[in-house]
Amino acid sequence: MKSLLLVTAILVLFVQVSARNGMWMPQYLDTWNETEMQAMGSKLKASDIYSEEHPSLKDAVVHFGGGCTGEVVSADGLLFTNHHCGYSQIQSLSTLGNNYLKNGFWAESQENELPCPGLVISFVREMREVTGLILSQIPDDISGKDRENRIKILSDSLEKKFSSGDSIKASIQSFYQGNAYYLNIMEVFHDIRLVGTPPESIGNFGGETDNWIWPRHTGDFSIFRIYASRENKPAAYSRDNVPYHPRQFFSIRTSGIKEGDFTLVYGFPGTTQYYQFASVLEDMISDSYPVKIALRNARLEILRKSMAENDTIRLKYASKFRRLANYYKRWKGELSGLTEYHAPDTLKLRELAFEAWAEKNPVSSSRYGGIIPAVSATVANLGKYSLANDYFTEGLRGIELLSLVSPVIKFIGKNRLPDPDSAGSSDEQQKVLNAINGFYKNYDVHVDRMNCREMIQIVIRGLPDEMIPEILKKADSLYNGNTGNYVSDLFAGSVFLERDKLKEMLHRETGMDSIKNDPAVLLYRSVQNTWENVVRPGYETYRNSMDSLKRIYMKGILEMHAGEAVFPDANSTLRVSYGKVRSMKPRDGILYEWYTTTAGILEKGLTGNEDYTVPAVLRSAISDPDNLYAEKGLQHVCFMADNHTTGGNSGSPVLDGNGNLIGINFDRAWEGVMSDILFQPLKSRNIIVDIRYVLFIMKKVGKADRLIKELRLVP
Ligand code: ASP
Repeated sequence: MKSLLLVTAILVLFVQVSARNGMWMPQYLDTWNETEMQAMGSKLKASDIYSEEHPSLKDAVVHFGGGCTGEVVSADGLLFTNHHCGYSQIQSLSTLGNNYLKNGFWAESQENELPCPGLVISFVREMREVTGLILSQIPDDISGKDRENRIKILSDSLEKKFSSGDSIKASIQSFYQGNAYYLNIMEVFHDIRLVGTPPESIGNFGGETDNWIWPRHTGDFSIFRIYASRENKPAAYSRDNVPYHPRQFFSIRTSGIKEGDFTLVYGFPGTTQYYQFASVLEDMISDSYPVKIALRNARLEILRKSMAENDTIRLKYASKFRRLANYYKRWKGELSGLTEYHAPDTLKLRELAFEAWAEKNPVSSSRYGGIIPAVSATVANLGKYSLANDYFTEGLRGIELLSLVSPVIKFIGKNRLPDPDSAGSSDEQQKVLNAINGFYKNYDVHVDRMNCREMIQIVIRGLPDEMIPEILKKADSLYNGNTGNYVSDLFAGSVFLERDKLKEMLHRETGMDSIKNDPAVLLYRSVQNTWENVVRPGYETYRNSMDSLKRIYMKGILEMHAGEAVFPDANSTLRVSYGKVRSMKPRDGILYEWYTTTAGILEKGLTGNEDYTVPAVLRSAISDPDNLYAEKGLQHVCFMADNHTTGGNSGSPVLDGNGNLIGINFDRAWEGVMSDILFQPLKSRNIIVDIRYVLFIMKKVGKADRLIKELRLVP
């Protein structure tokens, strides 16, 4: 049996270290990937993709708003990203009377492009390895907080040394679970303006029904522009700023693609857990995923109902709802894929092969022999703290009101607010006023009251007694198990429910005192107290032990595969994933074609599902026979490929073998979404909006000829 397991393990490892899947560091493509990429159809040299010496494709890729990717597509700084990446900006610029989310927006000239306060984008200028500088100062046997603190001090000083003002931001990132460190130097631009967006009925066509789902017909794109000073340098917003002239921008291929074509995704994938331990994954499957899914489901149910009943609530919660729903469905998909593919068994096989390798040599055996048993012991002893963290993060911190209590009580005792009608004068006053105003902008008391009730009930049912905050235990007995009544009283008695009342209280000396006993403050303090004293110490011990076990395990894996390609887990730094346009067989007897067309939009429109409402403007665009972007009479909408991607790759450019833009990455197919942990070549697919559909919508819906003229279109 053991030898059979080992044979399979070797096969699994072969898949793992073969370069096909993975999120590769662009500066090492020449060593690990160029040959394979070219064999798969790429005509690019590694230095065309990444260079610090001369302009390369990397200079057209931006980190968008911190969590997404975008690409520059014109000499005047025009930028494509996803509609869902621009969503919160579009929402902030929308009002009920001028609803760009609902109706779309197309600036008729540069003067009409809309500033997006707070939105920043950054370009990678340099990625320098500093492993020696960092690790030479950290003794090998130091772990946990001590290690973290020492690395932070070293990182802070390097970051400070290489950063400059607001425009050059250096940051140190850990790779391979703390076995390597890199300094990323980014150029940051602050004046970004909204140029165009389709209405939500196109940009989010299919809504939650289709999120993570194939077949897909979403025009998930939006258009921004980078502005700079007259010297072409980053600058704070000013009317005098001018469009930025980038070092490089993408050409757009209009001739279309076919199955088997090479694809390259260039972007900023957020996090993956590719080198996770089997016993941790078992715990996640049995406890963590089900708890997080249940808590989030409860929140979403409340939002769904309230938003359907009331347009104001709908607008206030649109962005929050999407964020919550996105992960909810993703977790469900991951759980189902990880279970179906017995992912813990695959990880176990990798661990067996690792242990067999370590045993061969006394040095590696003493270094690595005890790792896997130590992981199992840590999970058995401390796993309950990790689960409690889920209840706190997803449940109790999901009570919106508590997020306002935090900045307010930090303010109490230090200061008072001035007269309610005047602006704050000190930094502290300004900070708390911003928190208060920002909070109420998208808040509804009734929604949060229902939400609070649900969260508390689920948490009380799930957490062991000693981890339940005191106040909830008391409420449970005081209200005879009916914590719903406790929540009603809490909401009836709290001053946090009304903005002006709260500001007034923070203005009066006596008001400050009574806020300390506000029921929302008491709940917040009790939750914090239990977190700080009961859950956090255990959770931190768990995390620290896991971090150091992972670091040693990863070090071993790198030794075991010395001279082979091993990609590091994603960490929001720039990566390249390559693959091919590919269909997928989700189940026996079913084939998912690799592309969709506008015919599918009309088909979905017939179902009556309101996520599939086809706006009149799109209907008439589809029926217009005069269409430059159709292929043999068919307008393609989306396509699939087998690039290894994750959250953060949203908005990433998808390039052909010549580096031309063929689409914008925006999602993955549900059946293979467990790829953060287990990439399954038969199932894992990224979903891309065809660039010709973007052009079609720009032309027919946005009448945006002035923008199309800016692009460099190639056959
Ligand atoms: N939809 C994801 C995102 O929002 C992309 C993905 O996970 O594939 O970043």
